Amino acid sequence: MDLFEKCFQFTEAKEAMEGGYYPYFLPLEDTEGTEVVIRGQRLIMIGSNNYLGLTTHPKVRQAAIDAIKHYGPSCTGSRFLNGNLQLIMELEEKLARFMGKESALVFSTGFQTNLGAISSLVGRHDVVITDKEDHASIVDGCRLSYGTMKRYKHNDAADLERVLQSCPENSGRLVVVDGVFSMGGDLADLPAIIPICKKYGAKLMVDDAHGVGIIGDARGTAVHYGVNDQVDLIMGTFSKSFASLGGFLVGDEPVIHYIQHLARSLIFSASITPPNVAAAMASLEIMETEPERRERVLAISERMGYEYRRMGYNIGNTVTPIIPIIIGERLSTVFLWQRLFQEGVYTNPVVEPAVPPGTCLLRTSYMATHTDEQMDQVLETFERVGKEVGII
Ligand code: PMP
Repeated sequence: MDLFEKCFQFTEAKEAMEGGYYPYFLPLEDTEGTEVVIRGQRLIMIGSNNYLGLTTHPKVRQAAIDAIKHYGPSCTGSRFLNGNLQLIMELEEKLARFMGKESALVFSTGFQTNLGAISSLVGRHDVVITDKEDHASIVDGCRLSYGTMKRYKHNDAADLERVLQSCPENSGRLVVVDGVFSMGGDLADLPAIIPICKKYGAKLMVDDAHGVGIIGDARGTAVHYGVNDQVDLIMGTFSKSFASLGGFLVGDEPVIHYIQHLARSLIFSASITPPNVAAAMASLEIMETEPERRERVLAISERMGYEYRRMGYNIGNTVTPIIPIIIGERLSTVFLWQRLFQEGVYTNPVVEPAVPPGTCLLRTSYMATHTDEQMDQVLETFERVGKEVGII
C-alpha cells in the first residue's frame, strides 16, 4: 500500500475550493481587529478570539516593539537550556498572583500547555477523564500520556460520577474540562463537578483559554463561581484575550515544579518569543486597569444573543462572547456561512468531526472594540440572509 495514496484520495477540500465554498485558511490581506480585508473585500470580523480587542491597543503594540528591539525576535532555544528570559519569569510571577495560585509556568502555545501538563501528570496507572466537548489539545494531551482516557457526557456531572466509579481503585485521577467551552460558549458546571471530584479523589484541571480576561473579574471561570481554591490547575492561553501567542498553567508550587521538569512540549521546544511575552504582560496589566473592556464585550454579547434568539436562531446555552449559531446539517451551515461572507460578515463554520453529527454551527465571537454600528449591520445581515436561506 502506497503511504501517499490517501493524499490523492483526499479531494473534499479541493472540490470545495473549486466550488467557491471553501471556508478555511482564508488569507487576511489586512486586519484592524474588528474589520478584515480578504481578496479585496472588507468584512466585519465576528470570528476572532481577540475578545478584549487588545491586538490594536497602543500599549500592547509598543510593548512588543520594545521587546523585539531589546531582545530580538526569538530566544532560539528551549527555556530548559538556553531560552529562558528573566522577562518570562516576571510574567509567571504576575500570572500566579493574578490567578490567585502559588506558581505559574509559561509555555510557547496554549496547545503545548495542555500537551505538556496532562501528559507529564498522567502516568501508566492513572486515569484522565474529559468532557466530550473538551478542546482538541486536551484530547491530544491525554493521548500522549501513558494513562487511560475516559470521557463523560457534556457537562453531565452524574455521568462524570459514573465514569469515576468505574476507575480502578488505586488509580490517580485527573478530570480536565474547558472552563468556557470553545464552540458552545457555555461554562463547565464547576459547582457540580467539584464535589464529585472530591468524593472520588480526583484532581481537577480547568482549561480557561476563553474565560481568563473576560469572566470572574478577568480571572476566569473558577473565580466566576467562587471556587478558585478548589480547582487544582488552571491553564490559559495568550492567543485570545491576551492578544499574543503562548500559554500558561497555574497551580501549587510542587505540581508546577514537577511539570516544569517533565513536560516534553516545554523542554524540547523553543521558548515563547520576547515580543509575545511583552505583549502578554502588557495585556495582563490592561486586564487589571481597564475593566470597562470586559464589561463592553459582555454587554455586546448579551445584546447579540438576545437579538439572535428573537430572530429565531438556536444559540444553545452560551453566557460568554462566544455565540454559536446552531444550524444542524452541514450543507446549510456552509451555505449560510457563504451568504454572510458575500454580504460582508466573517463567521467560522464548524462542522463534523469538530462537533457531533447534526450539530454543525457558525461560531461567532465578539470584541470590546466592535462598534454598535458594526453590530447593527451584523444583525441586519443575519436577519435578512437567515430568512432568504430559510433558516429562520
Ligand atoms: N484550549 C482551548 C479551549 C482552545 O480553544 C485553544 C485554542 N483554540 C487552545 C487550548 C490552544 O491554544 P493556542 O491557540 O494558544 O495554542
